[in-house]
Amino acid sequence: MVGTVAFIGLGNMGGGMAANLVKNGFAVRAFDLSQAALAKAGENGATIAATVEDAVAGADAVVTMLPAGKHVEAVYNDAVFGAASAGALLLDCSTIDVATARRVSEAAGAAGFAMVDAPVSGGIAAAAAGSLTFMVGGSDEAFARAQPILSAMGKAVIHAGPAGTGQAAKICNNMLLGATMVATCEAFAMAGKLGLDPQTFYDISSVSSGQSWSMTSYCPLPGVGPQSPADNDYQGGFAVALMLKDLKLASEAAAQVGASVPMGNAAEALYQMLANRGEGQRDFSAMIRFLDGQ
Ligand code: NAD
Repeated sequence: MVGTVAFIGLGNMGGGMAANLVKNGFAVRAFDLSQAALAKAGENGATIAATVEDAVAGADAVVTMLPAGKHVEAVYNDAVFGAASAGALLLDCSTIDVATARRVSEAAGAAGFAMVDAPVSGGIAAAAAGSLTFMVGGSDEAFARAQPILSAMGKAVIHAGPAGTGQAAKICNNMLLGATMVATCEAFAMAGKLGLDPQTFYDISSVSSGQSWSMTSYCPLPGVGPQSPADNDYQGGFAVALMLKDLKLASEAAAQVGASVPMGNAAEALYQMLANRGEGQRDFSAMIRFLDGQ
């Protein structure tokens, strides 16, 4: 389906995503509280709307890419449900807590709309390149309708299950990533203290059982493994503040269902310490400098 999409939240991620919808033939109506974000969306071919209501009225689908659950709940409850056309498909691509995702989806159903939670893996560069991975929670029918819209913004669109499971997949994945990055950083830091050359340790561990994505795709040591934010003084990439946000969402969800997540909790505490050192905007692989006492 190529049609009209209302896009709410055109920040670092949403800006690139909306531009890819335009490139793929969708008519995009953009709304953001930031005039700068809106102006950029306009330059990228979107029509600028004055309010959420104006953006969604008459659109075939609504995509939201907002900071957190409270923004998502407010935008849908206060504006989208009352102004969207009957039959419009609602897609929330923000990373938010599972409980809010399920609550908003239920409210959408009660208001007569099909909705999916479709958070993404991949950062600002993947949003701009149209190479995000979407993990999608919602009914089979809603997923089938969401697929062509999400495919215009990403390289992989995976149905995770019913409402809320997209968010569940996202936070479980990122909790795993946080824990493996911390473990990879501490192993490299300790290897150095034991007199082991970091490149040699990489050559051994990358083909042994300690291997992980954190090591071989995103090595936290400069000059070792493929190019990564470590080679750029830990600038760009995935910010400590965003990893911390996802780890907090994971702890919250774990508490709600009584899951034991000691490694996730440890990673959360460590990323909180890194953020408290003023490193919230650094790439999350900067953990190695902290663990190495730098
Ligand atoms: P951002 O802060 O750059 O963008 C959010 C945008 O939402 C802003 O432009 C803001 O003005 C707008 N906004 C806030 N409240 C609004 C409202 N009520 N109505 C309209 N617009 C509103 O954030 P981002 O980096 O684009 O992230 C968006 C979401 O994507 C977050 O949930 C984040 O966790 C998730 N995410 C981010 C990354 C990343 O690398 N940045 C990666 C994966 C997922």
